[in-house]
Amino acid sequence: MEQRADSSPTRTGMGAKMKTLSLWLVTCSTLSNALLIHPEKDNEEDAKLVQNYLNKFYAVEPDPNQLGWKINAESAAEKLQKMQQFFGLKMTGKLDNETLEMMKKSRCGVPDVGLYGFTLPGWKKNKLTYRIVNYTPDMRKEDVAKAIEKAFEVWSAVTPLVFTRIHKGIADIMIAFGTKVHGHCPRYFDGPLGVLAHAFPPGSGLGGDVHFDEDEDWTTGSAGFNLFLVAAHEFGHALGLSHSNDQRALMFPNYAYVSPSEFPLSPDDISGIQSIYGSRPNAPDKKPTTPNSPKICGSQMSFDAITTFRQEVIFLKGRHLWRVYPDNSEAERELISAFWPNLTPGIEAAYENTKDQILLFKGNKFWVISGYQVLLGYPKNINILGFPKEESTDSMEKGYPRLTVDEFPGISQRVDAVFQQKGLFYFFHGSKQWEFDPIAKKVIREMESNSWFNC
Ligand SMILES: [Zn+2]
Ligand SMILES: [Zn+2]
Repeated sequence: MEQRADSSPTRTGMGAKMKTLSLWLVTCSTLSNALLIHPEKDNEEDAKLVQNYLNKFYAVEPDPNQLGWKINAESAAEKLQKMQQFFGLKMTGKLDNETLEMMKKSRCGVPDVGLYGFTLPGWKKNKLTYRIVNYTPDMRKEDVAKAIEKAFEVWSAVTPLVFTRIHKGIADIMIAFGTKVHGHCPRYFDGPLGVLAHAFPPGSGLGGDVHFDEDEDWTTGSAGFNLFLVAAHEFGHALGLSHSNDQRALMFPNYAYVSPSEFPLSPDDISGIQSIYGSRPNAPDKKPTTPNSPKICGSQMSFDAITTFRQEVIFLKGRHLWRVYPDNSEAERELISAFWPNLTPGIEAAYENTKDQILLFKGNKFWVISGYQVLLGYPKNINILGFPKEESTDSMEKGYPRLTVDEFPGISQRVDAVFQQKGLFYFFHGSKQWEFDPIAKKVIREMESNSWFNC
């Protein structure tokens, strides 16, 4: 079991939690007595891992009325199915390798169930205090403080919230590092890997507090676990957000490294937090303001890459992308990093295949995106697609490469981007665009590159 029975209420607000906690203990022991899981492989260790995982993340759910936890009385198979659904796995209700692999990933200690599309009431004030109670010896103190401060800035950038650090007394958000059983916390840590941190929803007492597992290797970079990223995720909980099943979201439960220079919030995180606190004053635009964003209606507008994606056309340039619905004049601008956190800016080419996927290229790498998610295992090297043409490769069609102008008479300039729409091709170079009819085999119109936007 992962909690102590003796969590004495030393701070206000623990009474209600105590009651639900003892109920939880009863259910957990009932569960472990009845062996409800029958893994295909007779592996005791895996069975234990699964049972622990489901008990930790799928057995109880936050109770918004009490700011505590309540029991979810489903069978283990139902919980397993819920877990598979959450992570987008096949919902077999049985343990398969894919499910087991997902359960072995390092993640947040807050449960996944109960609050889809539901947000807790949040703090009743916009000015919040935080205190760093102790430090990890893995990092310099000033680097810890900087990571924490930056993690709060992620949320204050898109809300009216203001965070102030205090050095003594009780802050709204108390931040501490601990191992196994720690302080008066009712949840415990599990040693290296597994659970990295946990946080409590807004409220008095433990409410809003954030704990990091000191048995992890905390860093400022990509090795070990990046404190800034984990802190930003946990602060989302401390502000009232639950887990998102959107893999692009910061609030997705599993740890994934993203360069800290990129803004880590996805549209899902932003709409979640703004549904509690509203957007940042003086920023009516619901997206964070981005300096130096290119002016789409400028006369010199050019693009890095363009692709169709189902009903949309996606235009990419630098750190931004625009989603255009040809029958609807509104274009939506997004940061590429907010959309696909593991992609780099400056995509050079893109196209949509016949399987509803888009392929994005940069240098000698490419990514495949399906249903707005980057497929696992990417980027891959373009040589698996047959580039550059080598004698030994037969994945490139015979007769290629060919000159663009031979296939598309009239298109003799370097092509920045190209896409196909309603049977016609659109070739882009600098601020110009050419509409090409493949049946007539000729250019039928020359336009400004931004003609797809309502300029
Ligand atoms: Zn979490
Ligand atoms: Zn704790």
